Amino acid sequence: MKLYFTEFHDEGTGIVFKIKKELFSAKSPYQEIKIFDTYTFGRLLVLDGLVMLTERDEFVYHEMLVHPAFYFKGKAEKVGVIGGGDGGTIREILKYPDVKETYLVEIDRMVVDASKKYLPFTASSLDDRRVKIFFEDGIRFLKERGEDFDLLFVDSSDPVGPAKALYSMEFYKSIKKNLKEDGIVVFQSESPWYHLDIIREQIEGLSKLFSSVKLYLASIPTYPGGFWSFTIATSRELVGERDYIPEGLRYYNKSIRETLFWLPEFVKNVTG
Ligand code: SAM
Repeated sequence: MKLYFTEFHDEGTGIVFKIKKELFSAKSPYQEIKIFDTYTFGRLLVLDGLVMLTERDEFVYHEMLVHPAFYFKGKAEKVGVIGGGDGGTIREILKYPDVKETYLVEIDRMVVDASKKYLPFTASSLDDRRVKIFFEDGIRFLKERGEDFDLLFVDSSDPVGPAKALYSMEFYKSIKKNLKEDGIVVFQSESPWYHLDIIREQIEGLSKLFSSVKLYLASIPTYPGGFWSFTIATSRELVGERDYIPEGLRYYNKSIRETLFWLPEFVKNVTG
Protein backbone atom coordinates (compact mmCIF):
# COMPACT_ATOMS: atom_id res chain seq x y z
CA MET A 1 0.00 0.00 0.00
CA LYS A 2 1.46 3.37 -1.11
CA LEU A 3 1.57 6.08 1.55
CA TYR A 4 1.62 9.85 0.79
CA PHE A 5 1.74 12.97 2.97
CA THR A 6 0.12 16.06 1.48
CA GLU A 7 0.33 19.64 2.75
CA PHE A 8 -2.18 22.03 1.19
CA HIS A 9 -0.86 25.60 0.93
CA ASP A 10 -4.32 26.88 -0.04
CA GLU A 11 -7.48 25.27 -1.36
CA GLY A 12 -5.91 24.72 -4.77
CA THR A 13 -2.22 23.95 -4.32
CA GLY A 14 0.04 21.87 -2.14
CA ILE A 15 2.99 19.51 -1.93
CA VAL A 16 2.96 15.70 -1.82
CA PHE A 17 5.65 13.41 -0.35
CA LYS A 18 5.73 9.69 -1.06
CA ILE A 19 6.33 8.10 2.32
CA LYS A 20 8.56 5.10 3.04
CA LYS A 21 7.59 4.89 6.72
CA GLU A 22 5.92 6.86 9.49
CA LEU A 23 8.58 7.01 12.22
CA PHE A 24 6.73 9.00 14.90
CA SER A 25 3.21 10.22 15.48
CA ALA A 26 1.80 11.76 18.65
CA LYS A 27 -0.32 14.59 19.98
CA SER A 28 1.39 16.83 22.52
CA PRO A 29 -0.57 19.34 24.62
CA TYR A 30 0.29 21.87 21.88
CA GLN A 31 0.17 20.19 18.49
CA GLU A 32 0.18 17.00 16.46
CA ILE A 33 3.75 15.88 15.72
CA LYS A 34 4.66 13.48 12.90
CA ILE A 35 8.00 12.39 11.53
CA PHE A 36 8.18 10.45 8.25
CA ASP A 37 10.88 8.86 6.16
CA THR A 38 10.28 9.98 2.56
CA TYR A 39 11.54 8.60 -0.78
CA THR A 40 13.09 11.82 -2.08
CA PHE A 41 13.63 14.32 0.78
CA GLY A 42 14.83 12.12 3.62
CA ARG A 43 13.23 12.60 7.00
CA LEU A 44 10.28 15.00 7.28
CA LEU A 45 9.00 16.82 10.39
CA VAL A 46 5.32 17.84 10.30
CA LEU A 47 3.53 19.89 12.97
CA ASP A 48 -0.26 20.20 12.81
CA GLY A 49 -0.16 19.05 9.19
CA LEU A 50 2.45 21.63 8.08
CA VAL A 51 5.95 20.84 6.78
CA MET A 52 8.54 22.14 9.25
CA LEU A 53 11.70 20.66 7.76
CA THR A 54 13.09 17.93 5.55
CA GLU A 55 16.50 16.31 5.83
CA ARG A 56 17.35 17.33 2.25
CA ASP A 57 16.63 21.09 2.34
CA GLU A 58 16.64 22.16 6.02
CA PHE A 59 20.18 23.50 5.61
CA VAL A 60 18.85 26.37 3.46
CA TYR A 61 16.38 27.55 6.08
CA HIS A 62 18.72 27.24 9.06
CA GLU A 63 21.73 28.81 7.31
CA MET A 64 19.67 31.73 6.00
CA LEU A 65 17.91 32.32 9.31
CA VAL A 66 21.19 32.51 11.24
CA HIS A 67 24.27 33.58 9.25
CA PRO A 68 23.24 37.01 7.90
CA ALA A 69 22.68 38.28 11.46
CA PHE A 70 26.22 37.25 12.46
CA TYR A 71 27.57 39.29 9.51
CA PHE A 72 25.83 42.41 10.85
CA LYS A 73 26.75 41.74 14.50
CA GLY A 74 30.51 41.73 14.95
CA LYS A 75 30.41 40.21 18.43
CA ALA A 76 27.67 37.87 19.68
CA GLU A 77 28.19 36.16 23.02
CA LYS A 78 24.58 35.58 24.11
CA VAL A 79 22.06 34.32 21.56
CA GLY A 80 18.42 33.29 21.93
CA VAL A 81 16.07 31.12 19.86
CA ILE A 82 12.29 31.15 20.22
CA GLY A 83 10.90 27.86 18.92
CA GLY A 84 13.47 25.85 17.02
CA GLY A 85 12.88 22.59 18.89
CA ASP A 86 14.40 20.53 16.07
CA GLY A 87 17.81 22.06 16.84
CA GLY A 88 18.77 23.21 13.32
CA THR A 89 19.02 26.88 14.28
CA ILE A 90 21.13 26.07 17.35
CA ARG A 91 23.43 23.98 15.15
CA GLU A 92 24.19 26.98 12.96
CA ILE A 93 24.60 29.39 15.92
CA LEU A 94 27.19 27.14 17.57
CA LYS A 95 29.46 27.51 14.50
CA TYR A 96 30.59 30.90 15.91
CA PRO A 97 33.37 30.69 18.50
CA ASP A 98 32.37 33.96 20.20
CA VAL A 99 28.96 32.55 21.21
CA LYS A 100 29.27 31.71 24.90
CA GLU A 101 25.66 30.80 25.68
CA THR A 102 22.52 30.18 23.69
CA TYR A 103 18.99 29.86 25.07
CA LEU A 104 16.41 27.71 23.31
CA VAL A 105 12.86 28.59 24.39
CA GLU A 106 10.69 25.81 22.98
CA ILE A 107 7.10 25.38 24.17
CA ASP A 108 6.89 21.68 23.33
CA ARG A 109 9.30 19.22 24.97
CA MET A 110 7.92 16.46 22.74
CA VAL A 111 9.35 18.18 19.64
CA VAL A 112 12.83 18.19 21.19
CA ASP A 113 12.59 14.58 22.34
CA ALA A 114 11.29 13.33 18.97
CA SER A 115 13.89 15.40 17.09
CA LYS A 116 16.72 13.97 19.21
CA LYS A 117 15.53 10.46 18.36
CA TYR A 118 14.66 10.83 14.67
CA LEU A 119 16.36 14.03 13.42
CA PRO A 120 19.98 13.74 14.63
CA PHE A 121 21.19 15.94 11.74
CA THR A 122 19.55 18.94 13.44
CA ALA A 123 19.05 17.90 17.07
CA SER A 124 22.55 16.66 17.87
CA SER A 125 23.61 20.25 18.70
CA LEU A 126 21.07 20.50 21.53
CA ASP A 127 23.42 18.59 23.84
CA ASP A 128 26.19 21.18 23.46
CA ARG A 129 27.32 22.62 26.81
CA ARG A 130 26.61 26.19 25.56
CA VAL A 131 22.89 25.41 25.11
CA LYS A 132 20.26 26.07 27.79
CA ILE A 133 16.77 24.76 26.96
CA PHE A 134 13.65 26.33 28.49
CA PHE A 135 10.43 24.39 27.83
CA GLU A 136 8.23 27.47 27.95
CA ASP A 137 6.02 29.68 25.86
CA GLY A 138 8.35 32.14 24.17
CA ILE A 139 5.82 34.92 24.60
CA ARG A 140 5.64 34.49 28.36
CA PHE A 141 9.38 33.90 28.66
CA LEU A 142 10.31 37.19 26.98
CA LYS A 143 7.49 39.09 28.71
CA GLU A 144 8.67 38.04 32.17
CA ARG A 145 12.42 38.13 31.59
CA GLY A 146 14.84 40.95 30.92
CA GLU A 147 17.67 39.25 29.07
CA ASP A 148 20.36 41.04 27.06
CA PHE A 149 20.68 39.01 23.91
CA ASP A 150 23.08 40.05 21.18
CA LEU A 151 20.98 38.09 18.70
CA LEU A 152 17.50 36.59 18.84
CA PHE A 153 16.06 34.16 16.28
CA VAL A 154 12.34 33.50 16.04
CA ASP A 155 12.28 30.03 14.54
CA SER A 156 8.58 29.48 15.05
CA SER A 157 6.01 27.36 13.34
CA ASP A 158 3.45 29.12 11.13
CA PRO A 159 1.13 31.71 12.73
CA VAL A 160 -1.46 29.15 13.75
CA GLY A 161 -1.75 27.30 17.04
CA PRO A 162 0.93 28.02 19.65
CA ALA A 163 2.90 30.26 17.27
CA LYS A 164 0.04 32.65 16.43
CA ALA A 165 0.88 35.17 19.14
CA LEU A 166 4.51 35.27 17.99
CA TYR A 167 3.28 37.63 15.27
CA SER A 168 1.98 40.40 17.55
CA MET A 169 3.08 43.87 18.66
CA GLU A 170 3.11 42.66 22.26
CA PHE A 171 5.66 40.00 21.30
CA TYR A 172 7.75 42.43 19.25
CA LYS A 173 7.90 44.76 22.29
CA SER A 174 9.03 41.86 24.49
CA ILE A 175 11.73 41.04 21.96
CA LYS A 176 13.06 44.59 22.03
CA LYS A 177 13.08 44.51 25.86
CA ASN A 178 15.31 41.41 25.81
CA LEU A 179 17.76 42.63 23.16
CA LYS A 180 20.91 44.67 23.72
CA GLU A 181 20.79 48.25 22.35
CA ASP A 182 22.68 47.10 19.25
CA GLY A 183 21.03 43.66 19.24
CA ILE A 184 19.46 42.09 16.15
CA VAL A 185 16.36 39.91 15.81
CA VAL A 186 15.57 37.68 12.81
CA PHE A 187 12.19 36.07 12.16
CA GLN A 188 11.29 33.34 9.76
CA SER A 189 8.54 35.32 8.02
CA GLU A 190 6.59 32.95 5.78
CA SER A 191 6.10 32.67 2.00
CA PRO A 192 6.06 35.66 -0.42
CA TRP A 193 3.69 33.62 -2.63
CA TYR A 194 1.11 32.78 0.02
CA HIS A 195 1.60 35.11 2.98
CA LEU A 196 2.39 38.62 1.68
CA ASP A 197 -0.18 40.02 4.12
CA ILE A 198 1.64 38.47 7.09
CA ILE A 199 4.96 39.77 5.77
CA ARG A 200 3.55 43.28 5.33
CA GLU A 201 1.96 43.35 8.80
CA GLN A 202 5.12 42.08 10.46
CA ILE A 203 7.30 44.71 8.76
CA GLU A 204 4.83 47.47 9.67
CA GLY A 205 4.75 46.33 13.29
CA LEU A 206 8.51 45.95 13.66
CA SER A 207 9.13 49.30 11.96
CA LYS A 208 7.33 50.98 14.89
CA LEU A 209 10.02 49.62 17.24
CA PHE A 210 13.18 49.21 15.16
CA SER A 211 14.86 51.71 12.83
CA SER A 212 16.15 49.08 10.40
CA VAL A 213 13.72 46.36 9.24
CA LYS A 214 14.55 44.45 6.08
CA LEU A 215 13.37 41.32 4.26
CA TYR A 216 15.43 38.72 2.47
CA LEU A 217 14.57 35.51 0.64
CA ALA A 218 15.81 31.99 0.04
CA SER A 219 14.79 29.08 -2.16
CA ILE A 220 13.34 26.24 -0.07
CA PRO A 221 11.65 23.65 -2.33
CA THR A 222 9.44 22.06 0.35
CA TYR A 223 7.97 25.33 1.66
CA PRO A 224 4.88 26.94 0.08
CA GLY A 225 5.89 28.43 -3.27
CA GLY A 226 9.44 27.05 -2.98
CA PHE A 227 10.48 30.50 -1.75
CA TRP A 228 10.74 31.70 1.85
CA SER A 229 11.30 35.01 3.60
CA PHE A 230 13.20 36.19 6.65
CA THR A 231 12.80 39.54 8.41
CA ILE A 232 15.77 41.13 10.17
CA ALA A 233 15.31 44.07 12.56
CA THR A 234 17.59 46.22 14.71
CA SER A 235 17.81 49.70 16.24
CA ARG A 236 21.00 50.54 14.34
CA GLU A 237 22.20 50.54 10.75
CA LEU A 238 22.58 47.12 9.12
CA VAL A 239 26.19 47.23 7.99
CA GLY A 240 28.63 44.33 7.80
CA GLU A 241 30.81 43.97 10.91
CA ARG A 242 32.16 40.43 10.54
CA ASP A 243 33.74 38.92 7.44
CA TYR A 244 33.97 35.38 8.85
CA ILE A 245 31.73 32.73 7.32
CA PRO A 246 31.93 29.23 8.90
CA GLU A 247 33.37 26.40 6.78
CA GLY A 248 31.12 23.86 5.11
CA LEU A 249 27.95 25.86 4.56
CA ARG A 250 25.91 24.66 1.57
CA TYR A 251 23.72 27.68 0.79
CA TYR A 252 24.88 30.94 2.41
CA ASN A 253 28.07 32.43 0.97
CA LYS A 254 29.68 35.80 0.14
CA SER A 255 27.62 36.38 -3.04
CA ILE A 256 24.35 35.57 -1.24
CA ARG A 257 25.49 38.00 1.46
CA GLU A 258 26.32 40.77 -1.01
CA THR A 259 22.90 40.47 -2.72
CA LEU A 260 20.94 39.63 0.43
CA PHE A 261 18.37 42.43 0.16
CA TRP A 262 17.79 42.20 -3.60
CA LEU A 263 14.06 41.53 -3.95
CA PRO A 264 11.71 40.79 -6.88
CA GLU A 265 9.31 43.66 -7.65
CA PHE A 266 6.16 41.95 -6.30
CA VAL A 267 7.86 41.55 -2.95
CA LYS A 268 9.61 44.93 -2.94
CA ASN A 269 6.23 46.64 -3.32
CA VAL A 270 5.13 45.07 -0.04
CA THR A 271 8.19 45.81 1.99
CA GLY A 272 8.49 49.46 1.03
N1 SAM B 1 13.22 24.90 12.39
C1 SAM B 1 12.19 24.30 11.59
C2 SAM B 1 12.40 24.71 10.17
O1 SAM B 1 13.36 24.24 9.58
O2 SAM B 1 11.58 25.49 9.70
C3 SAM B 1 10.78 24.64 11.96
C4 SAM B 1 10.53 25.49 13.06
S1 SAM B 1 10.47 24.73 14.60
C5 SAM B 1 10.02 23.07 14.42
C6 SAM B 1 9.01 25.50 15.20
C7 SAM B 1 8.89 25.33 16.68
O3 SAM B 1 8.25 26.45 17.29
C8 SAM B 1 8.07 24.11 17.08
O4 SAM B 1 8.89 23.17 17.72
C9 SAM B 1 6.99 24.66 18.02
O5 SAM B 1 6.71 23.79 19.10
C10 SAM B 1 7.64 25.96 18.48
N2 SAM B 1 6.70 26.96 18.99
C11 SAM B 1 5.51 27.32 18.47
N3 SAM B 1 4.94 28.28 19.22
C12 SAM B 1 5.81 28.54 20.25
C13 SAM B 1 5.80 29.43 21.35
N4 SAM B 1 4.75 30.26 21.56
N5 SAM B 1 6.86 29.45 22.19
C14 SAM B 1 7.91 28.62 21.99
N6 SAM B 1 7.99 27.72 20.96
C15 SAM B 1 6.95 27.71 20.10
